[in-house]
Amino acid sequence: MATLEINGLRARVAEEDGERILRGVDLTVESGDIHALMGPNGSGKSTLAKVIAGHPAYEVTEGSVTLHLDDADVADIDADLDEEDYSWELLELEPNERAALGIFLGFQYPAEIEGVTMTNFLRQALNARAEEREELFEDEADESETDDEDAGYDTSPMEGPADDGEIGVAEFQSLLKEKMELLDMDEKFMQRYLNAGFSGGEKKQNEVLQAAMLEPSIAVLDEIDSGLDIDRLQDVSKGINALRDEQGTGILQITHYQRILDYVEPDRVHVMLDGEVVKSGGAELAEKLEDEGYDWVREDAFETA
Ligand code: ADP
Ligand code: MG
Repeated sequence: MATLEINGLRARVAEEDGERILRGVDLTVESGDIHALMGPNGSGKSTLAKVIAGHPAYEVTEGSVTLHLDDADVADIDADLDEEDYSWELLELEPNERAALGIFLGFQYPAEIEGVTMTNFLRQALNARAEEREELFEDEADESETDDEDAGYDTSPMEGPADDGEIGVAEFQSLLKEKMELLDMDEKFMQRYLNAGFSGGEKKQNEVLQAAMLEPSIAVLDEIDSGLDIDRLQDVSKGINALRDEQGTGILQITHYQRILDYVEPDRVHVMLDGEVVKSGGAELAEKLEDEGYDWVREDAFETA
């Protein structure tokens, strides 16, 4: 079980006199839990997602983003692990290293890439991640251990090379099939170019598929519900629930509207205002926000400040 722990996080736009956006964010998300992060436009939700992912447009001035892992999260790692291999300060890592540790970030505006099919993209992403992950943990382990004379096959050579971390085509295809079934997706989808000519709803479904393939410990989904009609919203929601229920992914679901929370029931709801999480509660908090807006939260936060 993984825990993403954000403490006193402050960040600003990475340029001279850049605007301060995050003003002390505290938030903890465990695998298997769904947390909704709500808040008015401009409150800093997307910035938080991007800072977690390591976006270079922002500079962290204070605080920490720590990922705590347990044995199950590193079951695929061959090396002998030390205590420090179970806790990672994400702010010290590159974006791809954060991803390799099990953080998934879905983008509010996914890029279109002409000429790259979904299948190629996903297989490359899986392979790159596996390689990065191996390096990350090996670098740590290498400091205490130098013995690599056993390197080579640890399974039968008939199963393919075991030492290059490559996910073969057959293995990839069967994983893909399994995940598409899990998400109830049409197989035709896979031959399409990555997001090019996809409808808004298809892009969002694609994002969920990527998360299903990568099996992250924690997924940050930024407004995955924006612009979806009701059928697509239900499809995407079903996918998000499957990520949690079937893969134990912890989800930080960023949303401006309560609507998706009718289908993806959050364990906790947090409200962000002016770069701070000013209120947290259960699912009923989202309903109250839908009925009454954000003004009362602002008044509450002001009073106690
Ligand atoms: P939300 O996702 O809650 O709508 P954002 O995190 O996108 O909010 O933005 C929060 C505030 O920070 C906004 O006022 C936005 O204009 C500003 N902001 C975000 N990113 C940048 C940036 N790269 N450069 C300048 N201002 C930014
Ligand atoms: Mg946003």
